Amino acid sequence: MRTALFPGSFDPVTNGHLDVIERASSLFDKIFVAIAINSEKNPLFSFDERKALLEEVCSRFDNVVVDAFDGLLVDAARKFDVSAVIRGLRAISDFEYEFQMAMMNRALSEKCETIFLMPKPAYSFLSSRMIKEIAMFGGDVSPFVPPAVAEALGRKKANLQ
Ligand code: ADP
Repeated sequence: MRTALFPGSFDPVTNGHLDVIERASSLFDKIFVAIAINSEKNPLFSFDERKALLEEVCSRFDNVVVDAFDGLLVDAARKFDVSAVIRGLRAISDFEYEFQMAMMNRALSEKCETIFLMPKPAYSFLSSRMIKEIAMFGGDVSPFVPPAVAEALGRKKANLQ
C-alpha cells in the first residue's frame, strides 16, 4: 500500500491545496493531510476550524484522511509510516525553500522522499495568506476557495468587525 503525507498550515484550505490533494489521491492508495499544530503563531482559523473545513472539502475523496502533526516532519512521516511527503510547488519562489526542506528532511531521515506536485496554472498564484488579506478587505474570494471556506471567511470578517 502506497501512502503519503501532505503537511501544511491550511489556514484556510484553498483550491490550490485541493488541486494538489486531488492529484496525490490518484497517485497514492491513501493520503494523510496533516495540519501542523502550532506552526503559525497567529492563525486566523483555530486548529479545530481548519480541521473541520478540510474534512468537509476532502469528503469527496475516499482515500484522504485529515489528521494533525506536531514537531519534526520526518518524525510525523515515520509515525504515519508513509512512503512519501507531498508538497505543492507554485512557482520558482517556492523552490528554494522547498528544496532546502526536502534535502534537510532527507538528511534527517534517509527514507523521507519528498514529491512535488504542481497545481493548475490558475491556482499557481494562490496562497492562504493572500486569500485572508483579500477576504478581510471585503474582496470576493469565491473563485479561489471552496464555498465552505468562502462562507467561513465571511463569518470571520463579520466577527472581527
Ligand atoms: P506551509 O505553511 O507548510 O507552507 P501551507 O498551508 O501554506 O502550509 O501549504 C501547504 C502546502 O501546500 C505547501 O507545500 C504549499 O507549497 C502548498 N500550496 C499552498 N498553496 C498552493 C497552491 N496554490 N498550489 C499548490 N500548492 C500550494
